Amino acid sequence: MLTLLSALTQLVRRTLTRWQKTIFINACFLKTGQFWHVSDLHLDPTYHLTDDHTKVCSSSKGANASNPGLFGDFLCDSPYQLILSAFKYMKDSQQPASFMIWTGDSPPHVPVKELSTETVINIIGNMSSTLRSFFPDLQVFPALGNHDYWPQDQLPPAASEVYNAVANFWKPWLTEEAISTFQKGGFYTQLFHSNMSSQPLRIISLNTNLYYSPDIVTLNLTDPAEQLAWLESVLEISLQKKEKVYIIGHVPVGYLPYARYTTAIRRYYNERLIKIFRKYSAVIAGQFFGHTHRDSIMILLDEKAKPINSLFVAPAVTPVKSRFQKLSNNPGVRLYQYDPFNYNLLDIWQFYMDLRDANKRNESNWKLEYILTKAYGIEDLKPESLYGMAKQFSVPHSKQFQQYYAHFFVSYNKSVVCNKHCKTSHMCAIQYLDHSSYVDCIRQTALW
Ligand SMILES: [Zn+2]
Repeated sequence: MLTLLSALTQLVRRTLTRWQKTIFINACFLKTGQFWHVSDLHLDPTYHLTDDHTKVCSSSKGANASNPGLFGDFLCDSPYQLILSAFKYMKDSQQPASFMIWTGDSPPHVPVKELSTETVINIIGNMSSTLRSFFPDLQVFPALGNHDYWPQDQLPPAASEVYNAVANFWKPWLTEEAISTFQKGGFYTQLFHSNMSSQPLRIISLNTNLYYSPDIVTLNLTDPAEQLAWLESVLEISLQKKEKVYIIGHVPVGYLPYARYTTAIRRYYNERLIKIFRKYSAVIAGQFFGHTHRDSIMILLDEKAKPINSLFVAPAVTPVKSRFQKLSNNPGVRLYQYDPFNYNLLDIWQFYMDLRDANKRNESNWKLEYILTKAYGIEDLKPESLYGMAKQFSVPHSKQFQQYYAHFFVSYNKSVVCNKHCKTSHMCAIQYLDHSSYVDCIRQTALW
């Protein structure tokens, strides 16, 4: 046994880089469980290199691509090559992963008339089978995004052709019960059975697109597809059974960190969800979203300002920005580490591709961007730990906040500066997810 172990350690030492060694060894000795998170792939099937830069991709909407290369361009959605390079990097890393969460948005940002129900379904099918070809044995828990429908954002609170087609693509990953609620409203719950813990983990995949402000189909509905009532009943059972739950979804709850007084979902639904999440915070061990394409953190506080939940928004794989935006994000994917006995979150390993450099060298260059606990000097990802981190951030000229702000754009430009107005928006969005506490935060900071 000892010789086998030392031979294995030797092998690990020789073939893996330093960070790979650390997580490989941790995972082998059962100290941590791990899972991947990918979001916002936004494949642009029209992406191709050509001398006329207005014609590189439909997603640039006629603008000149800035510096197009093999792996994409900051004015374009993802070329297939970029998505392949991300999956290949994840696979080649050989990280032991219990499962993967995939928080939606496969089609490109193009005018509605350039897509159709059929093309949207085809693209989601393509992304699902590409993912499966790389990870044939990995359990994937997907969630729908606002672009995973045609016309975009108009996800209906009832059965639809798209929900049905997508349910078929996701059948290899989901149980019959999950498929059946998914077909009716685009959401589901499913247990993940760990071989390290007798207690399973419950995944709840929400269709938060039903609450997204541009969704006119659900306007004036108090509980589209009865998802809120369903969520409460699932959480109530989880509470009684003493389960742990991870919530996954595309459009996040809370306030947008780059805009003032703006929730990502309609304010009414945000208030309702926050109330539910507060009530059941004891069973919710983590919440995971996408949609903004940026890397951000939120901490849910209870009515007495005690931190009770940790929420994470993962950055996108697509590097796209509009021609009117100054900053974008490099492509990113992440690995979470969790305690396999109680599903508490321990860390994030955020990986990224430096797109300019990869294009220059014609070579995929995915690498580690940061390890969350190391970057911000905290112990783990528990709500109290993240709250301590947020307090550190609030110190004027906090170096850790400067890092957080560079990570927000996935190191697109490491020297970006967040002025006072910008920092207030971020700090209030990180800590205050409901209307009254958020408004108080903005007002109080303005008085300083
Ligand atoms: Zn997106």
